[in-house]
Amino acid sequence: MEKTCTEVWNSCLQIIKDNIPNQSFKTWFEPISALKLEGKVLTIQVPSLFFYEWLEEHYVGLLRKTVKKQLGDEGRLEYNIVVDKSSGTGSPYTTNMPSNGNGAEAKTQSMPIPVSINKDIKNPFIIPGLKKLNVDPQLNPNYTFDNYIEGDCNRLARSAGYAVAAKPGGTSFNPLMIYGGVGLGKTHLAQAIGNEIKRNVPDKLVIYVSCEKFCQQFVDSLKNNTINDFVNFYQAMDVIIMDDVHNFAGKEKTQDIFFHIFNHLHQSGKQVILTSDKAPKDLAGLEERLLSRFKWGLSADLQVPDLETRVAILKKKMYADGIELPGEVVEYVAHNIDNNVRELEGAMVSLLAQSTLNKKDIDLALAKQMLKNFIKNTSKEISMEYIQKLVCEYFEVPVDMVKSQTRKREIVQARQISMYLSKSHTKSSLKTIGAFFGGRDHSTVIYACQTVEDLIETDKKFKAYVNDIQKKLKMS
Ligand code: ADP
Ligand code: MG
Repeated sequence: MEKTCTEVWNSCLQIIKDNIPNQSFKTWFEPISALKLEGKVLTIQVPSLFFYEWLEEHYVGLLRKTVKKQLGDEGRLEYNIVVDKSSGTGSPYTTNMPSNGNGAEAKTQSMPIPVSINKDIKNPFIIPGLKKLNVDPQLNPNYTFDNYIEGDCNRLARSAGYAVAAKPGGTSFNPLMIYGGVGLGKTHLAQAIGNEIKRNVPDKLVIYVSCEKFCQQFVDSLKNNTINDFVNFYQAMDVIIMDDVHNFAGKEKTQDIFFHIFNHLHQSGKQVILTSDKAPKDLAGLEERLLSRFKWGLSADLQVPDLETRVAILKKKMYADGIELPGEVVEYVAHNIDNNVRELEGAMVSLLAQSTLNKKDIDLALAKQMLKNFIKNTSKEISMEYIQKLVCEYFEVPVDMVKSQTRKREIVQARQISMYLSKSHTKSSLKTIGAFFGGRDHSTVIYACQTVEDLIETDKKFKAYVNDIQKKLKMS
């Protein structure tokens, strides 16, 4: 007697159950139902396209074996995929696909499948029971382009981010990968893009999620058997911003899921924005196929901001907080904390906190006293850039003039003192110093040093100038 499709499928399930972990069985096989058996072709219904892809990717061998065991060598498997459950009152809209494991030549990926997402998606960010119509993008409104200071350190990333924000999914920067060390502004920039998109087009579905949170949500969805809702949610977004993707390292299952979500979004022209602490090529513990996706668009790095940018960041921050610090304090902080922006801000916040507590105005001496703990390397090297800045400020001449060809007396003096101090306070060679100060050669530097030494001995006023500047240098 002919068996029914349900009987055949149940026998298959018996075998499958014995061959895979219980949790996987529950997640991937329990939601499947047998639809029909026509000759040697068994059709099973799966709840989504993603389910189908997942089964084909991870269980195709097992499925083929079990189907052949039940139906003989000609046994074939077909999927009926529920594409859209929300199409009114009628039965769900479905589409049929053969299994690749049938030995068919066709590549599943290249099959055109009409996809529209069930609009009744569940949002993993929302506690069950608290239904919300709009998706909260999970963005911090304080991270904007407006307060993201531009500098050489971030120019490419910032402008690419801006372009993406103006036209999400519509540039070749997809995905946009922003990478760089701790505290250099990855999260700020990534969120600024999200905020800008929401500002331009409020009903774009934007979601910001840290990689860590995503991994946690994935584990939860496995536990609760809601994997399909989880994937549907992310696949329904217009823009996904995933922070710190280096945290995917070693989490293969979650990477697999993200790979599918990524493909879906990318194919539908949706924007993906990623941040990471390393360039894609240096990311360890990530699957090659995911990494190769990450390299598709644009990777832009964030560097440590230079002195000027650091000062600008501090000033912007002070302005935003409605406070004021003396210029020399700001410079002192910016000059000495030069490894990342987060520490820079931290130092300023701690200065403010202490001054409020002690009811004292912050002057340079106090700032130094307070920042002792922040500044690890006190005998740090002084840069020529900084010397040039100090000298020019002292003589009130424009900074770039010392590098020019002008022979005006006060400029020549500033230039010669800068060279002299560079010789005594940095490890730079005569050649490097000459090159820095306007492409001059080493004999010019020797001459400058001699002139300054002579003048220190013969000219009291001049000596006082140099002493003053040296004092300032040592303060830093
Ligand atoms: P990351 O994610 O790279 O570790 P964050 O984005 O959290 O770094 O940045 C650390 C802090 O520095 C944040 O408060 C951020 O606002 C600030 N910041 C970083 N870069 C800039 C910048 N270019 N302009 C203004 N603030 C910045
Ligand atoms: Mg961050």
